[in-house]
Amino acid sequence: RAKEGGRGAYCFFKREMDETIRQRRTLSRELRQAILDEELVVHYQPLARASDGEVCGFEALCRWPHATRGMIPPVDFIPLAEDSGLIAPLGEFVLRRACADAMTWEKPLRIAVNLSPLQLNNPTLPSLVHEILIETGLSPSRLELEITESALFKDYQRALDNLRRLKALGVRVAMDDFGTGFSSLSTLQSFPFDKIKIDKSFVENINVHDRATVIVRAVLGLGRSLNIPVVAEGVETAEQMDFLRGEACDEIQGYAIGRPAPADTLSAWTNRAAVEPVKAKKVRKAA
Ligand code: C2E
Ligand code: MG
Ligand code: MG
Ligand code: MG
Repeated sequence: RAKEGGRGAYCFFKREMDETIRQRRTLSRELRQAILDEELVVHYQPLARASDGEVCGFEALCRWPHATRGMIPPVDFIPLAEDSGLIAPLGEFVLRRACADAMTWEKPLRIAVNLSPLQLNNPTLPSLVHEILIETGLSPSRLELEITESALFKDYQRALDNLRRLKALGVRVAMDDFGTGFSSLSTLQSFPFDKIKIDKSFVENINVHDRATVIVRAVLGLGRSLNIPVVAEGVETAEQMDFLRGEACDEIQGYAIGRPAPADTLSAWTNRAAVEPVKAKKVRKAA
């Protein structure tokens, strides 16, 4: 049957492939324009201190409002941006916007921004970050850069050098999606991270799969021994929150605290006046 369908199948797949390539070209052209026109939007998801539920920062997460496709999530355009030379301008846009937005908050909360591997391997990254900090007036101690392990392997020496230069600026660096990479432990050994973010694929299985539960507990112990704060991402339930709190996790992030939301919806967390009632509500809900 494979033989009979062979040629037809080939034509079919070739047509499909041409179509896919054509669509990617269109999308990357549109993305280039969207970046130029500053049409990408940055949403913010709260991070809370696990001990009392108080929001201590936000992660900037990029979205692309597309005229016909609706809101495109980053998984669908970050890889495209990386493949088509657009990640540098995209990353610069997000960083500048996130720092500027953070400057409008009454409380000096932290702002976390994701970096692509390609950005981390660019020798001009530290000076760009420095420039944006000066330009926006954001204190370096408020900025945290999130880096996934894959980012570090393209050029180990360059990545290490960039990390050190970023840290010298007073910026913090977090290891994102911890545990999902190729060699999380050697990465953690070699790079001077200030924070570990346990990937949500482990967190979602707390109390569901014994192994995931044990792994989360072990990562929290690892962080404690290394004196590196640990954040759990993807926390959705009160049960996960209770477990993490009981295991002395430092910070939690996830739908249980808040979903990523537009910059103009954060005032309950970022305004000084609004802090008390919000904090009280969070603590009660989490207890
Ligand atoms: P990430 O940095 O690990 O971000 C966390 C992702 O988990 C976000 O997805 C967030 O919306 C989602 N999330 C948070 N809490 C929960 C939860 O409780 N349950 C579930 N199911 N999901 C949760 P998002 O916004 O789709 O971003 C996906 C990835 O895209 C990010 O993963 C990050 O690696 C990348 N990304 C986003 N914005 C940027 C950017 O500006 N630059 C770069 N280079 N990458 C970005
Ligand atoms: Mg992240
Ligand atoms: Mg993450
Ligand atoms: Mg993740």
